[in-house]
Amino acid sequence: MVIEDFKGDKETMCGIFGVFNNNNASKLTYLGLHALQHRGQEAVGIAVSNRYEINVKKAEGLVMQALKEQDLNNLKGDIAIGHVRYSTSGKANPQNIQPFITHFYKGSFAISHNGNIVNANEIREKLEKEGAIFHTTSDTEVFVHLIAKARNTEEFDINLHQNDREFLPLLFSAMKNVKGAYSLLILRENQLIAVRDPYGFRPLVLGKNKQGSIFLASESCALDMVEAEYLRDIKPGEVLVIDGEGLRSYFPLGFVDKAHKCIFEYVYFARPDSIIFKDYVYEIRKEMGRQLAKEKPIDADVVVPVLDSGFLAAKGYSEESGIPLEFGLIRNHYIGRSFIQPLQEIRDLSVKLKLNPVRQVIEGKRVILIDDSLVRGTTAKKIVGMLKKAGAKEIHFLISSPPVISPCVYGIDTPTKEELIASTKSVEEIRNYIGVDTLYYLSLDGMVKSALNKKNKGFCVACFTGNYPVL
Ligand code: AMP
Repeated sequence: MVIEDFKGDKETMCGIFGVFNNNNASKLTYLGLHALQHRGQEAVGIAVSNRYEINVKKAEGLVMQALKEQDLNNLKGDIAIGHVRYSTSGKANPQNIQPFITHFYKGSFAISHNGNIVNANEIREKLEKEGAIFHTTSDTEVFVHLIAKARNTEEFDINLHQNDREFLPLLFSAMKNVKGAYSLLILRENQLIAVRDPYGFRPLVLGKNKQGSIFLASESCALDMVEAEYLRDIKPGEVLVIDGEGLRSYFPLGFVDKAHKCIFEYVYFARPDSIIFKDYVYEIRKEMGRQLAKEKPIDADVVVPVLDSGFLAAKGYSEESGIPLEFGLIRNHYIGRSFIQPLQEIRDLSVKLKLNPVRQVIEGKRVILIDDSLVRGTTAKKIVGMLKKAGAKEIHFLISSPPVISPCVYGIDTPTKEELIASTKSVEEIRNYIGVDTLYYLSLDGMVKSALNKKNKGFCVACFTGNYPVL
């Protein structure tokens, strides 16, 4: 089977971007989405409002390949939202590409979602029994239906600005019904709305440029891309409305006393040049490596990162231990992330396509190999085989996060529990399987401590513990 033919059910990861008040809205969204490409490589979409109507363009593939200049020229308007996806819950097919655009009795809106609604099936079944017709298999569509179906009967004890009285009660009512992870951008003819679920699982940041345009993005690296300044995070549970009369913030579901921000964003997913959850990914990822060195000091000659995502932990380990960091593996950047290939046989091959050892660095050396996470164990086994072939004397494999034992249900692409190597094997069994002298995982406390500080607390660690904050 060729990769292109594979259309299976997969969980996913996404990136979202929005802009308000800029005549180049579609082009800036394109650039912002390009900066968020690591969050989803399967498809891209941009919706733009010219204040009368909303137009949308969607395509499969990477941002720069999928959208042409003419597409962007056709998307005229000064408010836009965009989306890059791997595949969210829902099949990888063109109907599932976001933003979804809807026309209903109160006008039109488009929606982009990062996260995963855990009670989507339940809601969908109920709505279908009542006659609703769904157009996609995506969990996001339940939001659309709930908004369109809600009536202004719901009482929210909130004083709404007059521009917000029509639409926001519908959105609030939808929020009351859905459970799970959602960072959302909603585009209306004259408004841009940002929403973050009360647990704050997935990131969403707010920025502004010198000309006064407002931006929203999954990560601040996308704000850098369009030369906007990071202002703040959208808060867990916040609904932020942006229109000609300014910015207005509401908390329709009240505050949850403890946010559950996804710590895996810091471990692996977010770009290291981003600020998310109010803090620098770069610093935290490096601190995880330092912590690893404190927990597991090893007498060795060289620290080798599994590029790219293992680099900062390796740097932290090297700084803390004094053992030199060397690029003992070189990465070929002209292929996607190996984990993302859907077929096992292709996944195996693509590890070789991605990384090649540097014999001069490895030969005769006691190597500390560092990666950010071990999921199926496929990558590690292949890499270790390559390092042995290149003459490594010893291989000590350190992971800058604890064993992943449970699938993420909040929007990170993880395989089923059975496929997660640490859910069925002990650390010693995994060490044997991979074929290394030492295998050590950063402790849960060590990982959380690395990310914790005065402004940053309350993480979701469900993939490492199996304790899901909301189901
Ligand atoms: P595996 O071979 O399945 O153990 O995958 C581990 C490798 O995949 C590590 O190098 C991680 O950096 C990377 N990784 C971890 N989580 C993900 C994910 N959700 N999507 C893609 N790659 C991942």
